[in-house]
Amino acid sequence: MKKIIIANFKMNPLTKKEAKNLFKAYDIKTKHTVVLCPPFPFLEKGKNYILGAQNCFCRTEGPYTGAVSSKMLKDVGCEYILVGHSERRHIFGETDKIINHKVKLCIKNKVKPVLCIGENVGEKKSEVIKRQLKEGLKDVETKGIIIAYEPIFAIGTGKVCEIKEIIESYNLIKKIVPDAKVLYGGSVNSLNAKEILKVTDGILVGGASIKKEEFLKIIK
Ligand code: PEP
Repeated sequence: MKKIIIANFKMNPLTKKEAKNLFKAYDIKTKHTVVLCPPFPFLEKGKNYILGAQNCFCRTEGPYTGAVSSKMLKDVGCEYILVGHSERRHIFGETDKIINHKVKLCIKNKVKPVLCIGENVGEKKSEVIKRQLKEGLKDVETKGIIIAYEPIFAIGTGKVCEIKEIIESYNLIKKIVPDAKVLYGGSVNSLNAKEILKVTDGILVGGASIKKEEFLKIIK
């Protein structure tokens, strides 16, 4: 079945040449919808993949030095934007309110927001999911929205979430937002991707997305 596979390159690779190399390798026909989210300077459209961005600012234009808006990203070909990734929440201090602004602006500017949610170690999963969905999607038309469930303990650690936990979170999110497509993210690799894809609408891949052979095995 056709699933959504999103690659979050994070702050990698370091050169345009290396980025082009990855785009070229990943620009292949596959049954899945593949979305590549490189760093801003390396955004480049392809034939077989969809272009995405890792973030956008919570305003569309104005005196916000260094900021990039969803409208600009749309103009250079981005169709998806990650919003509320845990690294944005924790390193850059983004709140649910800011994230909600971004989600709304993405929709207004005709880009699909991928709202990332997930609990930290020691937090109650269901409470965090409910709160982040309620606040992140406040006054949002949820038809076609994409939610990426990414428990923080699983991001970049190699400790993938247990399948039964993924199913439980998937079902909870679907119960709250029936229209949503629900993806899982957190230490997805070529060995666990197939099993996770069976129980979700797709995956968000971080570290493994810049390892060429690894990501190719995931998308093929
Ligand atoms: C991510 O950054 O969204 C992510 C899931 O990272 P990783 O696959 O490296 O855990």
